[in-house]
Amino acid sequence: PVVLGIESSCDETGVGLVAEGVLLGDALASSMDAHARFGGVVPEVAARAHLESMLPVLREALDTASLDLADVDAVAVTAGPGLSTAVQVGLASAKALAYALDKPLYGVHHLAGHAAVDVLVHGPLPTRCVALVVSGGHTSLLLLGDLARDPVVHLGDTIDDAAGEAFDKVARVIGLGYPGGPVIDRVARDGDPHAIRFPRALSRAQDPAYGFSFSGVKTAVARWVEARTDAGGEIPVADVAASFQEAVADVLTRKAVAACREHGVGTLLLVGGVAANSRVRALAEERCAAAGLELRVPPLRLCTDNGAMIAAVGDLLVRAGVEPSRADLAADPSAPLTGALLHGVGR
Ligand code: ATP
Ligand code: MG
Ligand code: FE
Repeated sequence: PVVLGIESSCDETGVGLVAEGVLLGDALASSMDAHARFGGVVPEVAARAHLESMLPVLREALDTASLDLADVDAVAVTAGPGLSTAVQVGLASAKALAYALDKPLYGVHHLAGHAAVDVLVHGPLPTRCVALVVSGGHTSLLLLGDLARDPVVHLGDTIDDAAGEAFDKVARVIGLGYPGGPVIDRVARDGDPHAIRFPRALSRAQDPAYGFSFSGVKTAVARWVEARTDAGGEIPVADVAASFQEAVADVLTRKAVAACREHGVGTLLLVGGVAANSRVRALAEERCAAAGLELRVPPLRLCTDNGAMIAAVGDLLVRAGVEPSRADLAADPSAPLTGALLHGVGR
Protein backbone atom coordinates (compact mmCIF):
# COMPACT_ATOMS: atom_id res chain seq x y z
CA PRO A 1 0.00 0.00 0.00
CA VAL A 2 1.14 3.55 -0.79
CA VAL A 3 1.01 5.93 2.17
CA LEU A 4 0.97 9.69 1.71
CA GLY A 5 2.44 11.62 4.64
CA ILE A 6 1.94 15.30 5.45
CA GLU A 7 4.02 17.37 7.86
CA SER A 8 3.27 20.97 8.88
CA SER A 9 4.02 21.22 12.61
CA CYS A 10 6.55 24.02 12.43
CA ASP A 11 8.00 25.94 9.46
CA GLU A 12 8.41 23.08 6.98
CA THR A 13 5.62 21.96 4.66
CA GLY A 14 6.48 18.38 3.75
CA VAL A 15 4.80 15.66 1.74
CA GLY A 16 6.23 12.16 1.32
CA LEU A 17 5.14 8.90 -0.26
CA VAL A 18 6.19 5.56 1.21
CA ALA A 19 5.32 1.96 0.45
CA GLU A 20 6.61 -1.08 2.38
CA GLY A 21 9.48 0.85 3.97
CA VAL A 22 10.57 2.40 0.68
CA LEU A 23 10.61 6.15 0.07
CA LEU A 24 8.97 6.67 -3.32
CA GLY A 25 9.22 10.44 -3.42
CA ASP A 26 8.93 13.58 -1.34
CA ALA A 27 8.94 17.37 -1.49
CA LEU A 28 9.52 20.17 0.98
CA ALA A 29 8.95 23.90 1.28
CA SER A 30 10.23 26.02 4.15
CA SER A 31 9.13 29.38 5.48
CA MET A 32 12.37 29.69 7.46
CA ASP A 33 13.46 32.88 5.65
CA ALA A 34 10.18 34.60 6.51
CA HIS A 35 10.88 34.05 10.23
CA ALA A 36 14.54 35.05 10.23
CA ARG A 37 13.92 38.74 10.93
CA PHE A 38 11.80 37.79 13.97
CA GLY A 39 14.53 35.55 15.38
CA GLY A 40 12.19 32.56 15.61
CA VAL A 41 9.16 30.92 14.03
CA VAL A 42 6.04 33.11 14.02
CA PRO A 43 3.02 30.76 14.15
CA GLU A 44 0.67 32.85 11.98
CA VAL A 45 3.35 33.38 9.34
CA ALA A 46 4.10 29.64 9.33
CA ALA A 47 0.42 28.69 9.03
CA ARG A 48 -0.11 31.03 6.12
CA ALA A 49 2.98 29.67 4.37
CA HIS A 50 1.71 26.09 4.82
CA LEU A 51 -1.54 27.07 3.18
CA GLU A 52 0.30 28.59 0.23
CA SER A 53 2.73 25.69 -0.17
CA MET A 54 0.56 22.65 0.52
CA LEU A 55 -0.79 21.95 -2.97
CA PRO A 56 2.42 22.74 -4.87
CA VAL A 57 4.39 20.52 -2.47
CA LEU A 58 1.80 17.74 -2.79
CA ARG A 59 2.00 17.99 -6.59
CA GLU A 60 5.79 17.92 -6.54
CA ALA A 61 5.93 14.93 -4.18
CA LEU A 62 3.56 12.94 -6.41
CA ASP A 63 5.62 13.93 -9.47
CA THR A 64 8.93 12.86 -7.90
CA ALA A 65 7.32 9.50 -7.09
CA SER A 66 5.69 9.28 -10.54
CA LEU A 67 2.40 8.63 -8.77
CA ASP A 68 -1.10 9.95 -9.02
CA LEU A 69 -3.47 10.70 -6.14
CA ALA A 70 -5.47 7.64 -7.20
CA ASP A 71 -2.46 5.48 -6.23
CA VAL A 72 -2.65 6.58 -2.58
CA ASP A 73 -3.99 3.91 -0.20
CA ALA A 74 -3.74 5.76 3.13
CA VAL A 75 -3.03 9.25 4.43
CA ALA A 76 -0.85 10.01 7.46
CA VAL A 77 -0.47 13.43 9.00
CA THR A 78 1.24 15.10 11.94
CA ALA A 79 -1.53 15.77 14.45
CA GLY A 80 0.89 17.05 17.10
CA PRO A 81 2.94 18.20 18.82
CA GLY A 82 3.69 21.51 17.14
CA LEU A 83 2.33 24.99 16.54
CA SER A 84 -1.44 24.70 16.69
CA THR A 85 -2.34 26.75 13.63
CA ALA A 86 0.47 25.18 11.62
CA VAL A 87 -0.57 21.62 12.49
CA GLN A 88 -4.16 22.46 11.57
CA VAL A 89 -3.27 23.31 7.98
CA GLY A 90 -1.70 19.90 7.39
CA LEU A 91 -4.46 18.13 9.29
CA ALA A 92 -7.25 19.85 7.34
CA SER A 93 -5.48 19.04 4.08
CA ALA A 94 -5.02 15.40 5.08
CA LYS A 95 -8.63 15.05 6.18
CA ALA A 96 -9.87 16.49 2.90
CA LEU A 97 -7.66 14.09 0.92
CA ALA A 98 -8.60 11.03 2.97
CA TYR A 99 -12.28 11.89 2.71
CA ALA A 100 -12.21 12.62 -1.02
CA LEU A 101 -10.18 9.48 -1.77
CA ASP A 102 -12.17 7.41 0.74
CA LYS A 103 -8.94 6.17 2.35
CA PRO A 104 -8.01 5.75 6.02
CA LEU A 105 -6.44 8.64 7.92
CA TYR A 106 -3.67 8.14 10.48
CA GLY A 107 -2.88 11.02 12.82
CA VAL A 108 0.70 10.53 13.89
CA HIS A 109 2.97 11.89 16.56
CA HIS A 110 5.64 14.15 15.05
CA LEU A 111 8.44 12.66 17.16
CA ALA A 112 7.53 9.13 16.12
CA GLY A 113 8.13 10.45 12.62
CA HIS A 114 11.62 11.63 13.51
CA ALA A 115 12.38 8.07 14.69
CA ALA A 116 10.56 6.15 11.93
CA VAL A 117 12.28 7.96 9.08
CA ASP A 118 15.44 5.95 9.71
CA VAL A 119 13.60 2.81 8.58
CA LEU A 120 13.50 4.25 5.06
CA VAL A 121 17.28 4.36 4.91
CA HIS A 122 18.57 1.62 7.22
CA GLY A 123 15.73 -0.91 7.17
CA PRO A 124 13.48 -2.20 9.96
CA LEU A 125 14.32 -1.18 13.52
CA PRO A 126 15.52 -3.88 15.92
CA THR A 127 12.88 -5.22 18.33
CA ARG A 128 14.22 -2.89 21.02
CA CYS A 129 16.34 0.23 20.83
CA VAL A 130 17.11 3.40 22.70
CA ALA A 131 16.21 6.57 20.80
CA LEU A 132 17.71 9.96 21.52
CA VAL A 133 15.21 12.41 20.07
CA VAL A 134 16.87 15.77 20.00
CA SER A 135 15.15 18.59 18.15
CA GLY A 136 13.95 22.18 18.27
CA GLY A 137 11.23 21.49 20.82
CA HIS A 138 12.21 18.20 22.44
CA THR A 139 15.10 16.33 24.02
CA SER A 140 14.17 12.84 25.15
CA LEU A 141 15.74 9.46 25.73
CA LEU A 142 13.23 6.79 24.82
CA LEU A 143 13.04 3.03 24.98
CA LEU A 144 11.37 1.86 21.78
CA GLY A 145 9.87 -1.50 20.95
CA ASP A 146 7.63 -1.99 17.91
CA LEU A 147 6.98 1.64 17.00
CA ALA A 148 3.55 0.85 15.48
CA ARG A 149 2.18 -1.10 18.45
CA ASP A 150 4.16 -0.71 21.65
CA PRO A 151 3.92 2.16 24.09
CA VAL A 152 6.96 4.42 24.17
CA VAL A 153 8.88 4.43 27.45
CA HIS A 154 10.42 7.77 28.45
CA LEU A 155 13.73 7.24 30.21
CA GLY A 156 14.29 10.97 30.54
CA ASP A 157 13.37 14.32 29.07
CA THR A 158 14.66 17.86 29.31
CA ILE A 159 13.42 19.74 32.33
CA ASP A 160 13.70 23.11 30.58
CA ASP A 161 14.98 23.99 27.09
CA ALA A 162 15.36 21.53 24.23
CA ALA A 163 18.86 21.16 22.82
CA GLY A 164 17.85 22.71 19.48
CA GLU A 165 16.31 25.64 21.30
CA ALA A 166 19.62 26.16 23.12
CA PHE A 167 21.46 26.16 19.76
CA ASP A 168 19.04 28.79 18.46
CA LYS A 169 19.33 30.99 21.57
CA VAL A 170 23.11 30.76 21.82
CA ALA A 171 23.42 31.67 18.13
CA ARG A 172 21.44 34.83 18.85
CA VAL A 173 23.67 35.70 21.82
CA ILE A 174 26.84 35.46 19.73
CA GLY A 175 25.27 37.26 16.78
CA LEU A 176 24.94 34.37 14.34
CA GLY A 177 21.26 34.76 13.49
CA TYR A 178 18.53 32.21 12.98
CA PRO A 179 18.20 29.24 12.77
CA GLY A 180 21.12 28.69 15.09
CA GLY A 181 21.89 25.01 14.77
CA PRO A 182 23.31 24.90 11.27
CA VAL A 183 25.26 28.17 11.73
CA ILE A 184 26.85 27.11 15.02
CA ASP A 185 27.77 23.77 13.44
CA ARG A 186 29.53 25.60 10.58
CA VAL A 187 31.25 28.29 12.65
CA ALA A 188 32.39 25.77 15.29
CA ARG A 189 34.59 24.02 12.72
CA ASP A 190 37.13 26.86 13.07
CA GLY A 191 36.95 26.91 16.86
CA ASP A 192 38.55 25.10 19.79
CA PRO A 193 35.97 22.91 21.56
CA HIS A 194 38.08 23.01 24.73
CA ALA A 195 38.65 26.78 24.78
CA ILE A 196 35.91 27.35 27.38
CA ARG A 197 34.50 24.80 29.80
CA PHE A 198 30.71 25.31 29.71
CA PRO A 199 28.58 23.38 32.24
CA ARG A 200 27.25 19.86 31.65
CA ALA A 201 23.99 19.98 33.59
CA LEU A 202 22.53 17.03 35.53
CA SER A 203 25.79 15.10 35.35
CA ARG A 204 26.39 14.44 39.04
CA ALA A 205 25.77 11.02 40.55
CA GLN A 206 22.71 12.21 42.47
CA ASP A 207 21.08 13.72 39.35
CA PRO A 208 18.40 11.94 37.32
CA ALA A 209 20.48 9.71 35.05
CA TYR A 210 18.64 10.49 31.83
CA GLY A 211 17.24 13.94 32.49
CA PHE A 212 18.54 16.90 30.49
CA SER A 213 18.77 20.63 31.11
CA PHE A 214 20.03 23.16 28.59
CA SER A 215 18.95 26.48 30.02
CA GLY A 216 22.05 26.59 32.27
CA VAL A 217 24.54 26.23 29.44
CA LYS A 218 22.66 28.86 27.43
CA THR A 219 22.87 31.28 30.38
CA ALA A 220 26.52 30.40 30.96
CA VAL A 221 27.33 31.34 27.36
CA ALA A 222 25.40 34.61 27.69
CA ARG A 223 27.24 35.49 30.94
CA TRP A 224 30.62 34.61 29.47
CA VAL A 225 29.97 36.82 26.42
CA GLU A 226 28.70 39.64 28.64
CA ALA A 227 31.75 39.51 30.90
CA ARG A 228 34.10 39.51 27.92
CA THR A 229 32.25 42.45 26.33
CA ASP A 230 32.28 44.42 29.60
CA ALA A 231 36.02 43.91 29.82
CA GLY A 232 36.31 45.42 26.34
CA GLY A 233 37.44 42.17 24.74
CA GLU A 234 36.58 40.64 21.38
CA ILE A 235 34.24 37.64 21.35
CA PRO A 236 36.02 34.58 19.94
CA VAL A 237 32.83 33.46 18.19
CA ALA A 238 34.24 30.22 16.76
CA ASP A 239 35.64 29.13 20.14
CA VAL A 240 32.40 29.95 21.95
CA ALA A 241 30.37 28.05 19.34
CA ALA A 242 32.69 25.03 19.44
CA SER A 243 32.83 24.95 23.25
CA PHE A 244 29.05 25.24 23.58
CA GLN A 245 28.51 22.55 20.95
CA GLU A 246 30.98 20.28 22.74
CA ALA A 247 29.15 20.67 26.06
CA VAL A 248 25.81 19.75 24.46
CA ALA A 249 27.21 16.85 22.41
CA ASP A 250 29.07 15.49 25.45
CA VAL A 251 26.04 15.35 27.73
CA LEU A 252 23.68 14.00 25.04
CA THR A 253 25.89 11.16 23.89
CA ARG A 254 27.14 10.16 27.33
CA LYS A 255 23.61 9.71 28.66
CA ALA A 256 22.41 7.95 25.51
CA VAL A 257 25.19 5.36 25.68
CA ALA A 258 24.61 4.84 29.41
CA ALA A 259 20.90 4.25 28.74
CA CYS A 260 21.70 1.56 26.14
CA ARG A 261 24.03 -0.17 28.58
CA GLU A 262 21.64 -0.08 31.52
CA HIS A 263 18.76 -1.43 29.47
CA GLY A 264 20.77 -4.06 27.64
CA VAL A 265 19.98 -2.55 24.26
CA GLY A 266 22.42 -2.92 21.35
CA THR A 267 21.23 -0.06 19.14
CA LEU A 268 21.13 3.69 19.62
CA LEU A 269 18.87 5.64 17.28
CA LEU A 270 19.87 9.30 17.06
CA VAL A 271 17.12 11.43 15.51
CA GLY A 272 15.60 14.92 15.25
CA GLY A 273 16.96 18.19 13.90
CA VAL A 274 19.97 18.28 16.25
CA ALA A 275 21.00 14.80 15.02
CA ALA A 276 22.13 16.78 11.96
CA ASN A 277 24.89 18.31 14.09
CA SER A 278 28.31 17.13 12.95
CA ARG A 279 29.83 17.01 16.45
CA VAL A 280 26.85 15.19 17.97
CA ARG A 281 27.08 12.63 15.16
CA ALA A 282 30.86 12.21 15.48
CA LEU A 283 30.85 11.87 19.26
CA ALA A 284 27.90 9.45 19.15
CA GLU A 285 29.81 7.33 16.62
CA GLU A 286 32.95 7.35 18.72
CA ARG A 287 31.18 6.46 21.97
CA CYS A 288 28.90 3.84 20.44
CA ALA A 289 31.89 2.16 18.81
CA ALA A 290 33.75 2.16 22.13
CA ALA A 291 30.71 0.64 23.87
CA GLY A 292 30.10 -1.95 21.14
CA LEU A 293 26.76 -0.39 20.17
CA GLU A 294 25.21 -0.04 16.75
CA LEU A 295 24.47 3.62 15.97
CA ARG A 296 21.68 4.53 13.56
CA VAL A 297 21.39 8.12 12.35
CA PRO A 298 19.31 9.22 9.37
CA PRO A 299 21.06 11.19 6.61
CA LEU A 300 21.15 14.95 7.19
CA ARG A 301 18.19 15.93 5.05
CA LEU A 302 15.89 13.48 6.84
CA CYS A 303 16.90 14.64 10.34
CA THR A 304 14.99 17.93 10.15
CA ASP A 305 11.23 18.07 9.52
CA ASN A 306 9.96 16.49 6.31
CA GLY A 307 6.96 14.62 4.88
CA ALA A 308 8.75 11.31 4.38
CA MET A 309 9.03 10.79 8.13
CA ILE A 310 5.27 11.04 8.57
CA ALA A 311 4.63 8.70 5.65
CA ALA A 312 7.14 6.31 7.27
CA VAL A 313 5.04 6.14 10.44
CA GLY A 314 1.83 5.70 8.43
CA ASP A 315 3.47 2.86 6.52
CA LEU A 316 4.43 1.10 9.79
CA LEU A 317 0.88 1.52 11.14
CA VAL A 318 -0.76 0.27 7.94
CA ARG A 319 1.51 -2.76 7.73
CA ALA A 320 0.91 -3.58 11.41
CA GLY A 321 -2.86 -3.51 10.77
CA VAL A 322 -3.46 -0.74 13.29
CA GLU A 323 -6.91 0.89 13.23
CA PRO A 324 -6.85 4.39 11.71
CA SER A 325 -7.65 7.55 13.68
CA ARG A 326 -11.21 8.68 14.26
CA ALA A 327 -12.93 11.22 12.01
CA ASP A 328 -12.88 13.78 14.83
CA LEU A 329 -9.09 13.74 15.05
CA ALA A 330 -7.95 17.23 16.09
CA ALA A 331 -4.62 18.98 16.37
CA ASP A 332 -2.93 18.24 19.70
CA PRO A 333 -0.21 20.92 20.01
CA SER A 334 1.40 19.39 23.10
CA ALA A 335 0.68 15.69 22.54
CA PRO A 336 2.90 13.59 24.82
CA LEU A 337 4.74 10.79 23.04
CA THR A 338 3.08 7.65 24.33
CA GLY A 339 2.77 5.93 20.96
CA ALA A 340 2.99 6.62 17.23
CA LEU A 341 -0.75 7.00 16.56
CA LEU A 342 -2.94 9.88 17.74
CA HIS A 343 -6.51 8.62 17.85
CA GLY A 344 -8.88 11.56 18.05
CA VAL A 345 -11.12 12.16 21.04
CA GLY A 346 -14.26 10.32 19.99
CA ARG A 347 -17.69 11.73 20.75
P1 ATP B 1 10.22 19.29 17.26
O1 ATP B 1 10.64 18.20 16.34
O2 ATP B 1 10.70 19.12 18.65
O3 ATP B 1 8.76 19.59 17.18
P2 ATP B 1 11.21 21.09 15.30
O4 ATP B 1 10.36 20.24 14.41
O5 ATP B 1 11.15 22.57 15.20
O6 ATP B 1 10.96 20.64 16.78
P3 ATP B 1 13.41 19.94 13.96
O7 ATP B 1 13.03 20.37 12.59
O8 ATP B 1 13.38 18.52 14.28
O9 ATP B 1 12.69 20.72 15.13
O10 ATP B 1 14.84 20.51 14.21
C1 ATP B 1 15.10 21.90 14.15
C2 ATP B 1 16.11 22.19 15.23
O11 ATP B 1 17.32 21.50 14.92
C3 ATP B 1 16.44 23.66 15.35
O12 ATP B 1 16.50 24.02 16.70
C4 ATP B 1 17.81 23.75 14.70
O13 ATP B 1 18.61 24.79 15.22
C5 ATP B 1 18.39 22.38 15.03
N1 ATP B 1 19.42 21.99 14.07
C6 ATP B 1 19.32 21.82 12.74
N2 ATP B 1 20.51 21.53 12.19
C7 ATP B 1 21.41 21.52 13.21
C8 ATP B 1 22.81 21.32 13.31
N3 ATP B 1 23.55 21.03 12.25
N4 ATP B 1 23.36 21.41 14.55
C9 ATP B 1 22.62 21.67 15.65
N5 ATP B 1 21.31 21.89 15.61
C10 ATP B 1 20.71 21.82 14.41
MG1 MG C 1 12.29 23.83 10.75
FE1 FE D 1 10.67 18.14 14.27
